[in-house]
Amino acid sequence: MINYGAQSIDQSDIAAVTKVLKSPWLTQGPNVAAFEAALAKAGEAKYAVAVANGTVALHLAYLVAGLKKGDEVITTPNTFVATTNMLLAVGAKPVFCDLRLDTYNLDENKIEKLITPRTRAIVTVDFAGQACAYNKILALAKKYKLLVIADACHAIGATYEGKKVGRLADLTIFSFHPVKPITTAEGGAILTDNEDYYRKLMLLRSHGVTKDKKGFNVMTEFGYNYRLTDLQAALGLSQLKKLPRLAKKRHEVVRWYKKELGGVKKIILPSELKGNSSAWHLYVIRTIKPEDRLPLYNYLRQAEIGVNFHYPTVYSHPYYTKRGFATKSCPNADLYHDTAITLPLHTKLTKSEVRYIAQTIKNYFNA
Ligand SMILES: *Cc1c(COP(=O)(O)O)cnc(C)c1O
Repeated sequence: MINYGAQSIDQSDIAAVTKVLKSPWLTQGPNVAAFEAALAKAGEAKYAVAVANGTVALHLAYLVAGLKKGDEVITTPNTFVATTNMLLAVGAKPVFCDLRLDTYNLDENKIEKLITPRTRAIVTVDFAGQACAYNKILALAKKYKLLVIADACHAIGATYEGKKVGRLADLTIFSFHPVKPITTAEGGAILTDNEDYYRKLMLLRSHGVTKDKKGFNVMTEFGYNYRLTDLQAALGLSQLKKLPRLAKKRHEVVRWYKKELGGVKKIILPSELKGNSSAWHLYVIRTIKPEDRLPLYNYLRQAEIGVNFHYPTVYSHPYYTKRGFATKSCPNADLYHDTAITLPLHTKLTKSEVRYIAQTIKNYFNA
């Protein structure tokens, strides 16, 4: 099976982790702070806080943003459920905005009509690694005094009009799960320029406990143990050094796909908008006809091609449907849901594998 995603671990990653195993610190050693400094630099933000995974990074971001029961948050239905699950965890209500059919990101022109007196924030997801239309989104946020929180779990390394994803929103979240652009096994981070957010994130990450004037531990806030280990931070530092090279390979695979599949009329290839450099976490094609989607998906699976589906609309999950989130106001998201297939995209993919995948798609259509 050609997997849809795969990590890239080499000898230098293994050496970095092994070094920590032989050191006095397995958890809160020097690598966590060094990884955070490198992440802040990579995302062009003042501060980065490393945590146990992307999901808890979202939880902490929502907490420090002050989101709570009764608040509405405008977001996309085309995301991994963690984005909205953590909104539910703090009591806030996700309000789903329809998608653009070129980037599959939330449609910035459909946000304004969803704003009510209860709206507190917009949570963007830079889907597949491509930044949302931040100029318009940030202008709307300013006009209505809303926070912008970016779930950039797909998008470390991406740029929007020359700016790195990491400095665009009030809070930006990364994930380092093995399928993401760089990995720490499990891991995540929150980036921000806001010092108050930063201090609170550091506190909540570790039980809400800090040192008092005499140097004793005191708990001042309700917190958690959401820490990243030093082992993982060492892996992350080593991975981050390779991010430009890994990203270049992803762009190369995308060029191969475009060359091989550009002429196939029955499918729509993903696009990168002018001004955007995508992290290309995912390569999603759509069938023109919804009837072709499932048969093509099964045909590719039978040919040992590990196609996948990112994502079923959040409101179509039984947990959400049962709680009244089913919506008829996102026709583009529904069309996307019925036509999208994720093809393999990772840094170990070869040109001949891409050719084989493309040929199998052409065979399906007899093209
Ligand atoms: C991966 C992912 C998450 C969750 O990250 P974990 O590190 O797996 O907890 C959240 N949102 C999006 C969009 C993701 O892709």
